[in-house]
Amino acid sequence: MKPDRPETAAPQDAAARRAVAPVVCYPPETLPQPDLARYRRARDGAAKVSETLVPPREARCFEVPAGHFFRIVCVEGPQVGDLNLWNAANLAERFYSGKTRALHGTHLSTGDRMWSAFPYLRPMATIVVDTLDWYGFDAFGGAVHDVIGTRCDPYTHRLLSGGTYHHCCHSNLTRALAAARSLALPEAEALVHDVLNVFMCTGFSRDTGQYFMKASPVRPGDHLDFFAEIDLLGGLSACPGGDCSAEHSSDAAACHPLLVEVYRPAAGALDGWRSPEPSGYDRSHGL
Ligand SMILES: [Zn+2]
Repeated sequence: MKPDRPETAAPQDAAARRAVAPVVCYPPETLPQPDLARYRRARDGAAKVSETLVPPREARCFEVPAGHFFRIVCVEGPQVGDLNLWNAANLAERFYSGKTRALHGTHLSTGDRMWSAFPYLRPMATIVVDTLDWYGFDAFGGAVHDVIGTRCDPYTHRLLSGGTYHHCCHSNLTRALAAARSLALPEAEALVHDVLNVFMCTGFSRDTGQYFMKASPVRPGDHLDFFAEIDLLGGLSACPGGDCSAEHSSDAAACHPLLVEVYRPAAGALDGWRSPEPSGYDRSHGL
């Protein structure tokens, strides 16, 4: 955090330096754009093929073949979900929250993509419907579906409170991945990564830049629809924080399940579509 009283005196030209206009690091004009209209037509004609109910304070894994859709639905009450994505055939290729944030901003919505880690760096999933897109940014700078948080975890909880809590999203995702792929807990834990905070309402306080959360505006029926760009293994935790209006590493909050639905498009709806290739960089790094 920036100090209230800096130790270093501001230079003569401080105001001029502060007045320099920012430039967007990654202008979206050069980013390959998804054919959203086509994805939406395919989504409209798609049929549900499976459902996974994620119990409160637990996580579940689910498979989504490339070219299929998945929907995360709020079903009983306001509830936040922590989403991990892996390439189903190569768990080393996983969602890269930091680069996704750099490319699309702090909070995702329709048309944004979840990008995979180096050396792959390709779209894993594309958001095709967001029923909370009306929320935008509120007066506090808060918005939904962030890629700025990490996931609630027992280590930070212990650091800050000294307590032990086993149903943080990090542990929920670890148990779910271990069960889904018959992995030992340490193996699964190493594959769990920073999440897309589905339905969570967060931001950075305007005065101090601190990460904040507030009650999610999500209501039963709200959903987020994704197009699977590659064969995916997903992991979703119904955060112990519930709507994340107060705390997130205890059994205190009212928690609800989340539903994941997988949809298969009609035959021919995506003819000619192919999964994106991993990055073509040769990885020689200048040597
Ligand atoms: Zn959580």
